Amino acid sequence: MSLNGKTAIVTGSTSGIGLGVARELARAGASVILNSFTDREEDHDLAREIGEEFGVTARYVSADMAKPDQCRALVETAGACDILVNNAGIQHVAAIEEFPVEKWDAIIAINLSSTFHTTAAALPLMRKAGWGRIINIASAHGLTASPYKGAYVAAKHGMVGFTKVTALETAREPITANAICPGYVLTPLVEDQIPDTMKEYDMSREEVIEQVMLERQPSKEFATVEELGGTAVFLCSDAAAQITGTTISVDGGWTAL
Ligand code: NAD
Repeated sequence: MSLNGKTAIVTGSTSGIGLGVARELARAGASVILNSFTDREEDHDLAREIGEEFGVTARYVSADMAKPDQCRALVETAGACDILVNNAGIQHVAAIEEFPVEKWDAIIAINLSSTFHTTAAALPLMRKAGWGRIINIASAHGLTASPYKGAYVAAKHGMVGFTKVTALETAREPITANAICPGYVLTPLVEDQIPDTMKEYDMSREEVIEQVMLERQPSKEFATVEELGGTAVFLCSDAAAQITGTTISVDGGWTAL
């Protein structure tokens, strides 16, 4: 599978799933554009390292996915966008009546609205190129719910719905739009929660992972960023040309329960 000649933009790709997806797309030969809201030397170094490791063009573009104009500018700055991976996302956990309004607004903006803005900016470029793949990183929480994650679950369900609309509007063109729905993935974000949870429940690291984090994941294993990257590469392949408007769960059986 070669993605030589294709340009991929991956939002929120300085760590975790976004970085894993960007690396697998680069391994398959795509030029990649990494993104986050920061503009540190290490962000640009990360892109340089990926470029050197896989022999592709890689660069870092700072843009805050909470801001509509910056979402659109990210795509416009890239100049080409054959593969768009909407991955940037944040989380906040609180009961509905205590959920801070600014957290609700930020989650809806970053996890959902950014996908609308980047997609609107990318579609003309994909149409011009005559090919496109839109891959939205939703979640098992795009298909199921958990208490105290109101904004996140609403945003991820919204993302799945928007994916379907995107697929219908591009159905007669060589462009596909799909959502990948990961279960728990051991990213830096999740790893950081383990020490506090160990204290809170007076549990060992293994107990926290098995009884708290992977409680709903029947495989009792985390999905990996490489597996998610591999799923994204598959969605870019010719074999996936007729896969559009759907979700692919990478969740160890979570949504089969
Ligand atoms: P992470 O925190 O490791 O990475 C998130 C990335 O998004 C980082 O690069 C961060 O800098 C970037 N980001 C945050 N706010 C941004 C903003 N305003 N503008 C631009 N970039 C921004 O998290 P992750 O676990 O890799 O999550 C990535 C995506 O996968 C999210 O959408 C998340 O909802 C989804 N997801 C994660 C899991 C999991 O278990 N880790 C499960 C299901 C879905």
